[in-house]
Amino acid sequence: MSDKKQPILVVKLGGAEGLDIEGACSDLAALAQPPVRMVVVHGGSADATALGEALGHPPRMLTSPSGFVWRHTDRAALEIFTMAVNGKRNTLLVERLQAHGVNALGLSGLDGRLMIASHKTAVQSVEGGKRRVIRDDFTGRVERVNDGLLSLLLEADYLPVIAPLALSTDGFAVNVDADRAAAKVASALEADTLVLLTAAPGLLRAFPDEDTLIADLPRGRLDAAMDFAQGRMKKKILGAREALAGGVRRVIIADGRRPRPISDALAGMGTTIQ
Ligand code: ADP
Repeated sequence: MSDKKQPILVVKLGGAEGLDIEGACSDLAALAQPPVRMVVVHGGSADATALGEALGHPPRMLTSPSGFVWRHTDRAALEIFTMAVNGKRNTLLVERLQAHGVNALGLSGLDGRLMIASHKTAVQSVEGGKRRVIRDDFTGRVERVNDGLLSLLLEADYLPVIAPLALSTDGFAVNVDADRAAAKVASALEADTLVLLTAAPGLLRAFPDEDTLIADLPRGRLDAAMDFAQGRMKKKILGAREALAGGVRRVIIADGRRPRPISDALAGMGTTIQ
C-alpha cells in the first residue's frame, strides 16, 4: 500500500466533448509539485465513436432484457476503442501534460496488469421482442487494481495517465467504464479525493437546469441521487458510491469546462460527496 503521508488525488477526465483539456492539464501542472501524488484516468467515448464512424463501424446500441441500453463492443469495435482511447486520447493527454512540464506516463489497464476485469462471455439483448445471446462483447468490470505498480510510479514522481482498458480474467483486452475504473483506482490507492470532471457543473437536481446544482451530498443520500441522474451520470453516482465504500474520503463531481477545473473542484465548486 502506498505511503499515506501525502494525500493522493485521482482525477477522471470525461470522454465527452466540451471539456477544457488544456485548462485541466495546466491546472494539473500547477498542482503537481513533487512529490506528485496524482493519477489521471480518462474516458474517450466521443473519440471512439468518431473513429468508428470514419472507419465505417458506427456504434451499435443494444438493449438488455431489463431495458438498459449499452454499446456492443465486438472485436472490431474493441480495436477501434484501443486506437481512439489508448492511441489518440491517452497520447495527446500525455503530450499536453508534458508540454506543461509534468512527467506524465501513459498506460492502459493491460500494461503491467494494472487493471484486471471480469468479462461476461454471454450477454442477453432484446431485438424486435426476441431475446438474443451476444457472445462477442468485449466489455468488462474492473475487479482488481495493481496498486503496487501505481505506487512505484508515484514514488518515482511520474503522473500515471490511465486509458480505460483492462485485461480480463480470461485473457482479453476489454473496455471498462472510466468513472468506475477511476473509483477502483482511487480505492486501491487509498486516495483522499476522487474528482470526476464532466461537461456539467456537478450533479443537477433538475438536469439540464444548471441553477439546480447540488453542492453537498451526504453519502447516505446517494440512492436518492440516482433519481436525479440521467443516462451516464448514473455511472458517476455508482462510481462515487464504490469509491466511498472503498475508503476514499470524498468524491467531487465537477465542471471540466472551466479553465482551472481541479483547483475549483477542490475549492468547493461542483458536487462534493462524503
Ligand atoms: P463523461 O463526462 O464521463 O464523458 P457523459 O457526458 O457521458 O460523461 O455523462 C455526463 C453527462 O450526464 C453530463 O454532461 C450531463 O449532460 C448528463 N447528466 C444527466 N443527468 C444529469 C444530472 N442530474 N446532473 C448533471 N448532469 C447530468
